[in-house]
Amino acid sequence: MLLTAESMKAPVNKIISFSNVDGPGNRTSIFFQGCPFKCWYCHNPETIHRCNNCGACLETCPASALSMIDGKVVWDKEKCVDCDTCIHTCKFMASPKIEELEVAEVIERIMPNRPFIRGITVSGGECMLHAEFLKELFREVKKMGLTCLIDSNGSIDFSKHEELMELCDGVMLDVKAYDPVFHEALCAHSNHRTLNNLHYLLSINKLLEVRTVILPNYPEENLQTVTHVSEIILDKCDYKLLKYRPFGVREEALDKMGRIIASDEECKRLREIAISKGAIRTIIV
Ligand code: SF4
Ligand code: SF4
Repeated sequence: MLLTAESMKAPVNKIISFSNVDGPGNRTSIFFQGCPFKCWYCHNPETIHRCNNCGACLETCPASALSMIDGKVVWDKEKCVDCDTCIHTCKFMASPKIEELEVAEVIERIMPNRPFIRGITVSGGECMLHAEFLKELFREVKKMGLTCLIDSNGSIDFSKHEELMELCDGVMLDVKAYDPVFHEALCAHSNHRTLNNLHYLLSINKLLEVRTVILPNYPEENLQTVTHVSEIILDKCDYKLLKYRPFGVREEALDKMGRIIASDEECKRLREIAISKGAIRTIIV
């Protein structure tokens, strides 16, 4: 069946009405469910998979907000008290609190925020898994006079979505590692497409910022990534070095990633290297 703009739906994990950390200005952030990466340090692993309806979280809900209907988990938003017990119970990196929304329904949620925001940011999970939905969403958001940003890990080929790129005001791209072997170990996925997207987005002048998480246990890998990314982006976009923080990282990943925050000294050293390579718009976050 051909999906029309009206009938097209996408799985939404959550909508934050006002965010000042998802791009410039005050923004409404929309987080989509599902991600091809499984990064060790993911802070919201419940966005990675779609629920497989195993039912394990149902009994743990203190508010009886979850039920099984025709083999599918149904979430009652009105009863939910947002304790996240279900998310902590789930061993499958999923959440039962997903809403399948149409573009019009997302617009309805954005509308009350309109006087107070500069635009929207779509994130995840990996929002580009829903590129066709984003295209229709951006079309409507543009009519409201708002800007549209994409926050992505670059796992989906941006060059195949020209119309979306025309509607999009900028992309914030994660480059988690430059070395392909390390990236594969870190994210359970190749970085080939992410690096291609880095060059493509620069070529069409849509790259707003690049982000790399600085990992305390991997100084050589940090250096390699920061050096190569800096040489590619130069002064054409912001480069954010995000300090690794262990909070919210799943227990089995903490052994690999460590339980300490990346040091100020290491981040400052890498920032100086980035600037010396030409990425003069590098900041530590
Ligand atoms: S959210 Fe997780 S635990 Fe709950 S039904 Fe889905 S897969 Fe099972
Ligand atoms: S967050 Fe999950 S466990 Fe907590 S009330 Fe809502 S559905 Fe139930």
